[in-house]
Amino acid sequence: MSTIDNDDLLDLKKEIIEAGLKLQQKGLIVRTWGNISCRVNKKYFLITPSGIRYEDLTPDKIVLVKISDLSYKGDIKPSSEYKVHAACYRARKDISFIVHTHQVYATVAGALGKKEIRTEYNDERFIVPCALYGYPGSDRLADNVGRIAGKYSLSNAFIMANHGAVCFGNNSYEAIAEAEKLEIACQTYLADVCNLSMGHGLEEGYSSHRQDDKIVFDFGDIPDRVRKIHEEIYAKRPDINYIVHNKSEAVLTISRRVNQMRPLLDDFAQLIGVKVRIPVNDHGRDGNNIYVKKNVNAVFVLNDGAYCLGATLDDAQAVSLVLDKGCMAHLAVLRYGEGHFLSTLDCIRMNRFYRNSYSKLADKKS
Ligand SMILES: [Zn+2]
Repeated sequence: MSTIDNDDLLDLKKEIIEAGLKLQQKGLIVRTWGNISCRVNKKYFLITPSGIRYEDLTPDKIVLVKISDLSYKGDIKPSSEYKVHAACYRARKDISFIVHTHQVYATVAGALGKKEIRTEYNDERFIVPCALYGYPGSDRLADNVGRIAGKYSLSNAFIMANHGAVCFGNNSYEAIAEAEKLEIACQTYLADVCNLSMGHGLEEGYSSHRQDDKIVFDFGDIPDRVRKIHEEIYAKRPDINYIVHNKSEAVLTISRRVNQMRPLLDDFAQLIGVKVRIPVNDHGRDGNNIYVKKNVNAVFVLNDGAYCLGATLDDAQAVSLVLDKGCMAHLAVLRYGEGHFLSTLDCIRMNRFYRNSYSKLADKKS
């Protein structure tokens, strides 16, 4: 420990923060999701903390962790996936920088349940090894990622099944470049193999919030049908104050073709719910009903996308992004013909854990 120069340490911390902002600009990470680390020497690495937005990061918040036993000093907790990073540094002595992202196309490709994604980048063959699924933060996940990183010792881009991606480099530039390359290659793969070529994000329809028991819409001229949906949602969900209507291509397509969604991705299980029902108009039903359930934060409308619910606008927007990605994953699996869904038990556990830790965080803030 005494051999680490403090100036060097500060430079590395700054490089991590800069990398976070760059990844954010490139759209490869959003909010507090994902994490970034840098090897300091044979024994230690630095990693981003848990639950802090990249724009709020300062060098004092970056955590120094010992590779061998995962110990760290101070009150700031390292990112919950620090075990994954340690496992990668152990497996790959040749790398010094790791970025873990939830980037859309790579994550969606990681729901297909494949061992490798065989695609191309700049007309050259590009094989992306996929680590088997492990519950977030678990030793098993770290083992799975570390094993695959060691096995494919020439690869620097990996998919973590049903979760995201992890990319390596000798420095932040290399690791970020690898993440960009991976995203383009996976986008190509989804278009070629799953017939899925669509943009991602939020395509907003009718959004609203609750203020003093009144519903305030973002725009005027609300059709009666829409007003009734918002009224029903607020009446049945006293815990939510914001509704963001997402009509992105993926969400819209799901609202037309599917009658139920189970999570293919961790963040879907955490933020949206364990099972989402979508109205249908067969078997004598007109499909005009909606399903508003406790702890399910997306309410689909037949042929009209989904309403994303949150206690705050920020929450509702987060749900909206995660839903869009989840819908893309669902479509990819449907079109590919196979995929790996998360176990219901894992989903229940993840959803409960997320709600509990989230409400604790909110208590702390207030
Ligand atoms: Zn993650």
